[in-house]
Amino acid sequence: MSDFPAVRGQLLRGESLAPFTWFRVGGPADALFLPADTDDLAQFLAALPNDVPVLPIGVGSNLIVRDGGVPGVTIRLAGRQFAQIEPLDGARIKAGAGVLDSMVAKGAAKAGIAGLEFYAGIPGTIGGALTMNAGCYGRETKDVLVEATVMTRTSEIVVIPASEFGFTYRHNALPDGLIFLNATYQGAPDDPAAITARMGEITSKREASQPIREKTGGSTFKNPVDANGEKLSAWKLNDEAGMRGYRRGGAQVSELHANFLINTGEATAADIEGLGEDVRAAVKAKHGIELEWEIKRTGRP
Ligand SMILES: Cc1cc2nc3c(=O)[nH]c(=O)nc-3n(C[C@H](O)[C@H](O)[C@H](O)COP(=O)(O)OP(=O)(O)OC[C@H]3O[C@@H](n4cnc5c(N)ncnc54)[C@H](O)[C@@H]3O)c2cc1C
Repeated sequence: MSDFPAVRGQLLRGESLAPFTWFRVGGPADALFLPADTDDLAQFLAALPNDVPVLPIGVGSNLIVRDGGVPGVTIRLAGRQFAQIEPLDGARIKAGAGVLDSMVAKGAAKAGIAGLEFYAGIPGTIGGALTMNAGCYGRETKDVLVEATVMTRTSEIVVIPASEFGFTYRHNALPDGLIFLNATYQGAPDDPAAITARMGEITSKREASQPIREKTGGSTFKNPVDANGEKLSAWKLNDEAGMRGYRRGGAQVSELHANFLINTGEATAADIEGLGEDVRAAVKAKHGIELEWEIKRTGRP
C-alpha cells in the first residue's frame, strides 16, 4: 500500500527491524509505526484497510524477524502513554504495554508490592509478557495478572480479565490481532527492601546461567513434556544431542546455555532460524522428540 493514514507519531517506510530486536537481524518493515498515544493508534487502525497485516512488537527479545522483512505495518508502542507505571490501592500495579518488565518489577518493589520480582529477569515489555505468559523461577504472568486493556484491529478498546486469556506455558489463547495497551497486576504488600533483595537474587542467578549480554532471543524451544507427562528441559535435550556450541554461518548455540541461540556478529536471520532447525533435527534423531519453537518467527524468508 502506498498511502498510509496520517499519524501524529512516526511512520517509517522500509526501516530495518534489526536494531529493534535482540538478535539484531532481520529485514525492513514495509512500514514501522510508533504511535504518539492511544488515540493516534486508534485513528490509524480505523483508517487502515483491513487487508493490511499488522504486527505489534515489543523490544524483540523473543523474535526472529526474517531477512525479507515484514509485510504491512509493524507497530511498536514507544510513546510516553505506553510507558506509564502506576501503583494502585490494594497492592495492585498498572503498567503500559511498552514498559520493560524489569521496570515494572522495580516500580512494584518501590511501592511495597511483592510478587512481581520474577519480572526483574525478563528483558521484554509488558506487551510481550502478556503474549508469551512470560515467567521464570516458578512464576508466570498468569499468576499475577488481573486484567489487560487491548485495542482490536478495528480500533475498539476492550478490557480482558486474566481468566479469559487461556494462558498455558508461554502462550495465551486470545484471538490474533489484538494490541495490548496496558495491564493490571495483583501483588501482596511487603517491605520494599525485602522485595529488592529478592530481585537481586534473581538477576544474579540469571547472569551466571544465561548469555544475557549476547545478541540472543532467550530460550529457543519450549520445554517439552514426555509420554509419561514428565517435564523435560530443552537445554538438556539439545546438549545431549551434541548441539552445545554448534554453528551455522554467524549463528551459534550458546556454550553457556544450550537452549539459547546467539548471533556471533554477522549472522543472518536465516542462519539463526536454520540453526534452530538443525537443533530440532538433532534432538528428533537422538530422542525422538519434536521441539516446539518458543521464539516467534515472522516475516518473509
Ligand atoms: C536474555 C534473554 C532472557 C530471557 N529470559 C526469559 C525468561 O526467563 N522467561 C521468559 O518468559 N522469557 C524470557 N525471554 C524471552 C522474552 O524476553 C519474553 O518472551 C518477553 O516476554 C518478550 O517480550 P518483548 O517485548 O521482547 O516481545 P517481542 O519479542 O517483541 O514479541 C514477542 C511476541 O509478543 C507480541 N507482542 C509484543 N508486544 C505486543 C503488544 N503490545 N500487543 C500485542 N502483542 C505484542 C509480538 O507480536 C510477538 O508475538 C528472554 C529473552 C532473552 C533475550
